[in-house]
Amino acid sequence: MSLQGKVALVTGAASGIGEQCARRLAADGAAIVIADLNLANAQKVADDIVAGGGKAIAVSMDVTSEDEVNAGIEEAVAKLGSIDVLVSNAGIQIVNPIEEYAFADWKKMLAIHLDGAFLTTKAAIKHMYAAGKGGSIIYMGSVHSHEASKLKSAYVTAKHGLLGLARVVAKEGGSRGVRANVVCPGFVRTPLVDKQIPEQAKALGITEAQVIKDVMLKETVDGEFTTVEDVANTVAFLAGFGSAALTGQSVVVSHGWFMQ
Ligand code: NAD
Repeated sequence: MSLQGKVALVTGAASGIGEQCARRLAADGAAIVIADLNLANAQKVADDIVAGGGKAIAVSMDVTSEDEVNAGIEEAVAKLGSIDVLVSNAGIQIVNPIEEYAFADWKKMLAIHLDGAFLTTKAAIKHMYAAGKGGSIIYMGSVHSHEASKLKSAYVTAKHGLLGLARVVAKEGGSRGVRANVVCPGFVRTPLVDKQIPEQAKALGITEAQVIKDVMLKETVDGEFTTVEDVANTVAFLAGFGSAALTGQSVVVSHGWFMQ
């Protein structure tokens, strides 16, 4: 589905899943805003998209800061004219058993995953409403929007919360053509997951190979990781979907780990 003439802002797009979403949406014709804490890497991704014939800019954005989110979205609209697609993707992981989970880490996790989703939605949806062309908001959930795992109290709580936010935005935005959905990947080999493998091995007292086989991929149908391309293809499908038939949903991309 062509996204020609559309503008897509992807948070956390300097790495991993967000980066691939940005590249895929650019390939489908959208002008892309690479929004990330890491401006140097965001600029590299934007430059690469431009070198490949696409349109992209990088903006510095900490999604937990209302001022930075608002400034980044205003900069994007000033430079590219609108925001038609928002992919709220920035995220981190902190694993620990709950009795050792620092309150500061809990708050940091909820701030990045939930405040970030709220603040970017609030800032972007105003422009979608004002332009009168509708829009598509996609939250990067996880299988952990539906399932729990040990050591991930804050992550599971935040990812479940995104389902509620998406459903409210789908209802509020419906009459103005704004759709909201959640994409829920299984484990994808990105820096976020590579960091967790030794941490989980230590916390669970097992080897790294066991973490991959017996924790991460145990419930999949084929023992395979989901790829950044799998997730980006799903995001592109939701971004370009032509009606509100598909809104308020979560789409699970996980090799069958979770079936709904
Ligand atoms: P990643 O570490 O490769 O990339 C995350 C990006 O987010 C980085 O570029 C980082 O700079 C940016 N970021 C972090 N905090 C930020 C902040 N406060 N403001 C702006 N940018 C910030 O991680 P990833 O695996 O690509 O994860 C992306 C999203 O996908 C996350 O929401 C994650 O929870 C979700 N997810 C990942 C997996 C997986 O297995 N990798 C599975 C399901 C869901």
